[in-house]
Amino acid sequence: AKLRPDARLAFAVTPTRGAALARLQLENQLHRAVARGEFVAVFQPIVALATGRTVGFEALARWHHPERGEIAPGGFIPVAEETGIIGAIDDCVLGIACREAATWSGAQFVTVNVSGRRFADPSLIAVIDAKLAAARLDPGRLKLEITESTIMTDAAAAANTVRSIAARGIGVAIDDFGTGYSSLAYLHRFDANTLKIDSSFVKAMSASEQGMEIARTIVMLARNLRMSVVAEGVETEAQRNTLLSLGCEYGQGYYFARPLSAEAARDLVSREAA
Ligand code: C2E
Ligand code: CA
Ligand code: CA
Ligand code: CA
Repeated sequence: AKLRPDARLAFAVTPTRGAALARLQLENQLHRAVARGEFVAVFQPIVALATGRTVGFEALARWHHPERGEIAPGGFIPVAEETGIIGAIDDCVLGIACREAATWSGAQFVTVNVSGRRFADPSLIAVIDAKLAAARLDPGRLKLEITESTIMTDAAAAANTVRSIAARGIGVAIDDFGTGYSSLAYLHRFDANTLKIDSSFVKAMSASEQGMEIARTIVMLARNLRMSVVAEGVETEAQRNTLLSLGCEYGQGYYFARPLSAEAARDLVSREAA
């Protein structure tokens, strides 16, 4: 149940000897990549739907592989999660994200994805404190993105982590909302400040009246719980307009911007401040 869908695709069948070898090689390379600092982050703007202004960025991991070039998370996160290396990758992205956010001339926040294993590990808090201090970043400008599977990895440990980070003023966003189980139960138990509507619901809005009602209901739920709502995967002007009419305040997606290099994100912040 901890595997991501793409991991199941690749490894559901009994691995052949070749596949097992390839997986082992990837695992080895991931260890080496962490040691060599081959992981970087790109930053995708999160914007106010009404004005288009950038309110924050989501940090997304990329692997600069020496031979294969840039590899997106789909190419390494499944194996990284299975083997536990994901924790080291998460810490690395967290450090880069704090460092970059501290250079932005505006007050934009940065969000970082945290895997279930990392979120259940009590040592995460000390690492967050250290990265914030090293970057001199205000904790109020950091948010952690977690999914229901993150929470379900170890719900009791996750609840402790949420308490510790909330005490520091660090935000919690529920990612991919509506795609997993027990969504309402954990919304109630985990005091999150932001809800991210999964892109599948944004797509469904234009496909059917039912899709529209689901999106409307999620926005209403978030607003009633005093959470801010970010729609993911906004690709068209029509989607932006519909989301605005439903009362959704924030969005993220190719319609506004693709994930940007650290330099491009910094430039965008400066341009908007001017
Ligand atoms: P996510 O957290 O749901 O991130 C959003 C993904 O959607 C990103 O893919 C982003 O590039 C993509 N995206 C953004 N706007 C659009 C759009 O308009 N259309 C479409 N089709 N896609 C859009 P990416 O960067 O490949 O990341 C994939 C997933 O990998 C992330 O999904 C997240 O679950 C995971 N991930 C990324 N970085 C990290 C990390 O540092 N740690 C952990 N644990 N997971 C990460
Ligand atoms: Ca995310
Ligand atoms: Ca998401
Ligand atoms: Ca997703």
